[in-house]
Amino acid sequence: MSSLYRNYRPRTFSEVVGQEHTKQTLRNSVQAGSFGHAYLFSGPRGTGKTSLARILARAINCENPQKGEPCNGCDICRQFLSGTGLDLVEIDAASNTGVENIREIIENLKFSPTQAKYKVFIIDEVHMLSKGAFNALLKTLEEPPKHAVFILATTEAHKIPLTVVSRTQRYDFRKIENAKIFEHLKFVAKKEKIKIDDESLQLVANASEGSLRDALSILEKLSAFGAVDLAQTEQLLGIVNVAACQKLLDLLAQKSARGALEFISKIFADGTDPIQFNKDFLEYLRKVLLVSMGGDFAFALDKTQLAELGKQAKNIRPAQLLHIIRLFLRANKDFQISPSDDLPIQIAIAEACLDTSSAPNRGASNQSQTENNPPETAQKKSPESETVANENISKAEADEFSAAPVNEDAVLAAWPAIMEQIKEQKSTFFIVMKNVSVASARGNILEIKCSYKFHKDSIDKNKEVIAGILRERFGANFRINAVLEKKKSDELGDASSLAVEIFGNEAA
Ligand SMILES: [Zn+2]
Repeated sequence: MSSLYRNYRPRTFSEVVGQEHTKQTLRNSVQAGSFGHAYLFSGPRGTGKTSLARILARAINCENPQKGEPCNGCDICRQFLSGTGLDLVEIDAASNTGVENIREIIENLKFSPTQAKYKVFIIDEVHMLSKGAFNALLKTLEEPPKHAVFILATTEAHKIPLTVVSRTQRYDFRKIENAKIFEHLKFVAKKEKIKIDDESLQLVANASEGSLRDALSILEKLSAFGAVDLAQTEQLLGIVNVAACQKLLDLLAQKSARGALEFISKIFADGTDPIQFNKDFLEYLRKVLLVSMGGDFAFALDKTQLAELGKQAKNIRPAQLLHIIRLFLRANKDFQISPSDDLPIQIAIAEACLDTSSAPNRGASNQSQTENNPPETAQKKSPESETVANENISKAEADEFSAAPVNEDAVLAAWPAIMEQIKEQKSTFFIVMKNVSVASARGNILEIKCSYKFHKDSIDKNKEVIAGILRERFGANFRINAVLEKKKSDELGDASSLAVEIFGNEAA
């Protein structure tokens, strides 16, 4: 554990950073002498659960309490602070999960406190206890001796049996606000004479995501540099990679396969690990996705990077972004089976840049769009494609989607992968699709040949499944045309195909 965290552990309720409501309530109950015998402190790591548990342990035992606060100077307080007091028992349930550990506590409970008024048992990570251990604990919590106080702490309250939870007073700890972490970091940096600027401290606060422990541990690592500047902070937080992620996303948005491949081969040659980079890239894409959905988030990025992220989120089409995310997620999985670490990323890049004729992102100039505008294609007027377009995307986007037809070869080349997606999304429909064939995919019209009417019916009914996958893949709206081939009627007794046999296609 970070020594800064240890050295700056709060020693009174008022010194605790954040958790205003919890610390006030606890302090009041100590002052009023009305505290309980079993507490549950739940919440994210590094938010002060153990610190508050220890303060509470001292406060209720202090020989000289001050308005509910421990004095930290009397014998009991000093024993508890130094960890030598026999009446304070701390257990880490992560390493003592068994029932025998709880039995030991129960045995211990039989004896009155040696010096303090109350024996206090702090059980950290209590959700790790075995079922047997919980049962043993429950019996004690049902009838705790008057001289015992239990404080259970956990990051995963949902894993604790309700029977146990219901025996406790529960306090939910929240992530500590950025501003409070920042103030505390500033205070500690000043005390420790760590030279670090506010912008760096802000980055550290953002990166800690509400955990004071994490924030102080980063500050401690940074302090090893002596005087800390923004570049060092970024490097330690792994933020430098953001610039590389932004560059790669730019190249992918432009569908520059060559540029993107050259770029990653250069950064890998410079020592960047492909697997780690892929993770960082996915994390960056996640941020772009969140921002593009209109959220307001605090990311550990500097101002320039945040501005660039905002620009990219605005310029990239959601469908293209999702497509890229899926490709790199798959790369993440493919590292396990790939003979080289570069290959999964190279495949993802190649596929992300697969030529879909133009379909430029919004950032690209509008001029090229008008220049490339094809003659009015059939699907542009078709009612289906209008409906499809209106479901998910704005009018402006719909126009852009149909700006130019997707190259037929690209669609056919991707067909096996598209079939896989159909299988994932709707396995019953996939069975139908296995029995039909794609005749052509020109002008954003996917023509599918069927031998049986019920195949055609099924395709007509499930058009949106295929169209959705194509839209996501190529950023274009396709019209799905199922065509029934002449006769072939020696069929499976299906009523409609019987009708075909007797009356021909028209009647069915
Ligand atoms: Zn005291």
